[in-house]
Amino acid sequence: MTPNLSIDKSVTTAENNTDDNLHPAIAAQRVIVPNQVNQASLNPADLNQANINQQGLPQPILHHPILHHLGLHQHGLHQPSQNHILAALPTADLANLSQYLQLVELPVGTMLYEPGQESRYAYFPTSCLISLQHMLESGRTAETASVGNDGLVGVALFMGGNSTPSAAVVQISGYAYQLEGYVLKQEFKRLIPLQQLLLRYSQVLLTQISLTAVCNRHHSLQQQLCRWLLLTLDRLNTNEITMTQELVAGMLGVRREGITEAAGHLQREGLISYRRGHITVINRKGIETHVCECYGVLKKELLRLLPEGT
Ligand SMILES: [Zn+2]
Repeated sequence: MTPNLSIDKSVTTAENNTDDNLHPAIAAQRVIVPNQVNQASLNPADLNQANINQQGLPQPILHHPILHHLGLHQHGLHQPSQNHILAALPTADLANLSQYLQLVELPVGTMLYEPGQESRYAYFPTSCLISLQHMLESGRTAETASVGNDGLVGVALFMGGNSTPSAAVVQISGYAYQLEGYVLKQEFKRLIPLQQLLLRYSQVLLTQISLTAVCNRHHSLQQQLCRWLLLTLDRLNTNEITMTQELVAGMLGVRREGITEAAGHLQREGLISYRRGHITVINRKGIETHVCECYGVLKKELLRLLPEGT
């Protein structure tokens, strides 16, 4: 395998939102302010500043000395194989695809796809969490699926439709490998193992969307919250989630008061703690006893259709 040696870095900045009637999740997602960083003058502080192209998409900063200084290249902190789809490719195919992969940092709130817009890139997350969600005319929103290191964002590219009515928004910041859409289409036709993996992942995604619809209709808010917590933990390999209750409510399509009540119950049982936008799962086994069957069904399908990554 040939690890990709280039890295992108970008940060978005939230717009000022003065419309108090907007759903909090929408307000938090109205983000992208183009502001190209001058790479020649980049210093460590600049790593937290905006670097967005005209479409509001991350731009590459290639082989910058600061990034080498931070050891991001030399010590292999970032590798395509941290994404389970990429890790499942035969070594030669991953090496071939790696030449097209660009590592990008995706800050929370970055809108990767807007509803109905053609996607230029696909993203293979390694440490970030992307929410696929629908927004209603009222501004209310709900998540239909989420994508982490177990999948990719950009299924519409190889399915042939190019766009979807849903949006893809970064809910937890982190890294992903970005791939030009035309390359994904080209390699989808050429590399049979990649084609098979992407089709099986599409089936997992359909299962996740179907289960979300049924779960939201028939299971309690506490069960839904437990499902969301466990799926999120699985993708992030951590027990701490940086997320406000407002954003969790927006993703589940419910009022914040409902999440506060459900989270309060879990907190009183000593299963989680919540403080200033940080949810820490203290007792995962306890959460598993409260979750509905939907979590287990999805995990089983994931294991059946896709191998565990590295
Ligand atoms: Zn459920």
